[in-house]
Amino acid sequence: MFEPADPNSTLSTLCRGLMTADPKQRLRIQRFMVAAINYVIFGGLLVFMAAQGRVPWDAAIPLLSFMVASEVGIYVLLRTGVAQRYADPSLTLPQILLALVAVVWSYAILDESRGAALILLALILTFGMFNLSGRATRGATVFALGSLGAVMLTLHHRHPAQHPFSQELIHFLFACTSLPTISLLSAQLGMLRKRLESRKQELMQALERIQMLATRDELTGLYNRRHMMEALRVQRALAERTGQPFCVALIDLDHFKQINDTHGHGVGDEVLRRFAEVSLRCIRESDLLARWGGEEFLLMLPAGQLPQARHSLDRLHDAVRMESLAPSLPHLGVRFSAGLAQQVPGEPLEATIDRADQALYEAKRAGRNQTVVA
Ligand code: GH3
Ligand code: MG
Ligand code: MG
Repeated sequence: MFEPADPNSTLSTLCRGLMTADPKQRLRIQRFMVAAINYVIFGGLLVFMAAQGRVPWDAAIPLLSFMVASEVGIYVLLRTGVAQRYADPSLTLPQILLALVAVVWSYAILDESRGAALILLALILTFGMFNLSGRATRGATVFALGSLGAVMLTLHHRHPAQHPFSQELIHFLFACTSLPTISLLSAQLGMLRKRLESRKQELMQALERIQMLATRDELTGLYNRRHMMEALRVQRALAERTGQPFCVALIDLDHFKQINDTHGHGVGDEVLRRFAEVSLRCIRESDLLARWGGEEFLLMLPAGQLPQARHSLDRLHDAVRMESLAPSLPHLGVRFSAGLAQQVPGEPLEATIDRADQALYEAKRAGRNQTVVA
């Protein structure tokens, strides 16, 4: 709404000063300002009528002061962020109740033109449509009709000649036909809003799940091959720019088929899951581990040279040796072999991975349970 094109212009700076840079706060204050413009028009009308002698100044001034005080008060609460402590940080209900008080008050001091003020009651309740719950809108409607009825009865009681009962009753009945309808529509809109909100939540959850399925391996929770390839491509581009090399290690569990064959597929799965857990605990935060397929894993070590990478793998060998990877079979020893390669500047990713694979093959041939550097 109030969004100047140039963020450095005086208007932009002024907007930021008036409405803060926080988009949520901005929206709340913008909504408040739309209501405030209505206050200015209504106040102007009151001044005009007082100048015309249709409303005595000593009746108009207290109402004008009330309107100014309530608008300043609401603005201060919104702008300072104090309103954010409340369940409704837009202060919609207080704003609506204050506006209803102002309009009912104006009804009490206006001359025969007071019937027109009733239109404003409908306008105020319409403001609540987008933000208030059905219950709050019903409450505001009862408040509007109750205070209006009380003011009408008092006026009739004090000045029966200027406020004949039949005329006040007609005004009241008009209010009674329009306001509850607005309240009803508001409640329906509120229900629609709630339904939309829950759909949005469902969609967000579905999106999260899709993202998880697209990037993670279901059994171990590690990143999958597709995600690792993307991460490797990003890392290679970074290495080309900065000249900082990175390493990849292909890790393969030794004689894994035997574990499956001897203890069953369930134990095999358990070992894969536990291996992922132990490895994640052991590697650096900047390292990335993925399930490359079956009982094979790819570890990307972005920071550091080959000796550090080798050291990381030695630590992993130790950790796996120390841990029981199948809690149901505490004495089951699981080992792995690894092929480690450092990316050479300009080398395609596939070639680096291929060198790591060759090194892994060497490690297997040399008796397993070891790391071979390409
Ligand atoms: P090596 O030391 O030469 O690597 O021998 P190995 O037995 O580990 O290798 P091989 O390739 O012969 O067998 C790998 C086995 O891993 C075969 C396959 O059934 C099993 N496997 C692959 N994916 C899974 C899985 O998700 N769960 C389980 N339990 N087993 C799996
Ligand atoms: Mg294998
Ligand atoms: Mg294997």
